[in-house]
Amino acid sequence: MQRKVLDLFTSRGILVTAQAGERLLDSKDPLSNAEQVLAALPEGTLFLTHDVIDGILGPSPPPPKEEEEVQESPVSAEPPAGGEEKGGERNEEEEEWEEKGEEADIELGGRERGGEGKEHPHLLDLNGIPDGTADFPARGLGSNLEVTFDITGCSTSSGDISGFQHYFKDRYSTLREMIRKHRGYSPAAKISQLDPHAAELRLIGMVKECSTTKAGNKMVDLEDDTGVITVFIPKDSDLARTTLVHDEVIGVAGKRDNRGGLRAEEIVFPDIPIGRKRKKAEYPVAAAFCSDIHVGSDTFLGEAWKRFVEFMRGSGGDEEWAGLIKYLVVAGDLVDGIGIYPKQEEELVIHDIGKQYEELARLFSYLPDHLEIILMPGNHDAVRPAEPQPALAAPLQEIFTDHGVNARFLSNPSSFSLEGVKVLAYHGRSMDDLLSAVPGLTYEHPLEAMRIMLQRRHMAPIYGSKTPLAPENEDHMIIRDIPDIFVTGHVHSAGMELYRGVLLINSSTWQDQTSYQKMHNFNPVPAKLPVVNLQSLECRVFDFL
Ligand code: FE
Ligand code: ZN
Repeated sequence: MQRKVLDLFTSRGILVTAQAGERLLDSKDPLSNAEQVLAALPEGTLFLTHDVIDGILGPSPPPPKEEEEVQESPVSAEPPAGGEEKGGERNEEEEEWEEKGEEADIELGGRERGGEGKEHPHLLDLNGIPDGTADFPARGLGSNLEVTFDITGCSTSSGDISGFQHYFKDRYSTLREMIRKHRGYSPAAKISQLDPHAAELRLIGMVKECSTTKAGNKMVDLEDDTGVITVFIPKDSDLARTTLVHDEVIGVAGKRDNRGGLRAEEIVFPDIPIGRKRKKAEYPVAAAFCSDIHVGSDTFLGEAWKRFVEFMRGSGGDEEWAGLIKYLVVAGDLVDGIGIYPKQEEELVIHDIGKQYEELARLFSYLPDHLEIILMPGNHDAVRPAEPQPALAAPLQEIFTDHGVNARFLSNPSSFSLEGVKVLAYHGRSMDDLLSAVPGLTYEHPLEAMRIMLQRRHMAPIYGSKTPLAPENEDHMIIRDIPDIFVTGHVHSAGMELYRGVLLINSSTWQDQTSYQKMHNFNPVPAKLPVVNLQSLECRVFDFL
């Protein structure tokens, strides 16, 4: 019940405070009360508080009359209903741990478990960090940031069936056009119009199903808007080693087989054309990339952050790099959030989402004033979980303005150019799906997953897995415009690599290993800062651990 009630709100991007959650769940008919509250909420509501509910349903009912008896009765020794329900579901929840972008409650359990003791953390002291004496060329620069894609305020998602039809139609036709640019594919016919007498076939389709026969051969069902065809890939062919994922669009050439299918001789992906010229800034200026700060978590690496602030202010060494940094791109998971995974409250030092952003703004306020900070959400942030995720809402943005932080708030994903250099920034949740679908891919090597995205020209090719995708009229997860820099976070790893002229960056984390990661034997690579000189395209990864 708790899950159902909370899902009503969180699926619309509304966060339910602990008190509000208790108020609803303690009421006589939680579900119908929740529906009533939801219907009465003004559009754009971000937080559901106790007071708001009182305003809609009337004041809370008085506490139970038999107070003394409750204290003495053995029943009172048991956890309250909400806690019990949570406990009962635990095993199931633990299986799905990372999938819970949707659940937003929160402190219901935390306060019962005595999490309150951690509610007033000792804040990281950043006072007294001196500015370096070196000349900072970036200080005199104006901003040269141009946003080319941002979903905020432009979402067309209605969530109904026709939305999904539009979405898939756009995915197929856009990627088909990209494949038609490959040699030989421009005349590719639709599946139902393939010439029945032609021995050689060439077509473009979406991967519907992949299977391996008993003999080890691969069978792939390809689909377009006119029909389905089975593609046969013999196990001894080189193509048998090609990675294929559900819902991606590929081109296939081969010979017709006697069962009406096709025996593949070539497979092409939309991919990035080779020989592209990389764009450069006209003067020396640099961009730094980070993500997954997870402010609010008890594993946030404060001391490393302090060294990062020293570096940025020119008193921590490497001033020739620090002095060029004009832009800081933060690719999501700004804060740890609340209710993202079971028992998260036990690992939080800040239990209020607003206060987590408050603390993040304070941390940023110690960075140099000339810095332009680009902030986008990830799956831990307080926006709708379905991608593309809009930018942080206005009340949260104001927290940064109030702290004097020069920030731009963009969606996840978003595209923009810095000094003419095109950046595509995506938090990277779909890597969870790619890593579980593709044998050999691991969290330690996220650049491999990013390369798959570029080859597929799609940031979340697999549909209907852990990554919630909003059925927009257009598929905004398609990589339409080829970036010069493609950055992701999410996997708490770090690395840089060039793929066909696109610089891939995975931007580390500021969170130490969590108990969940420990349990899964995952070692994060925290407190690294990839920096790119946008004029020379020279790159460096700084380490603050
Ligand atoms: Fe993260
Ligand atoms: Zn994440």
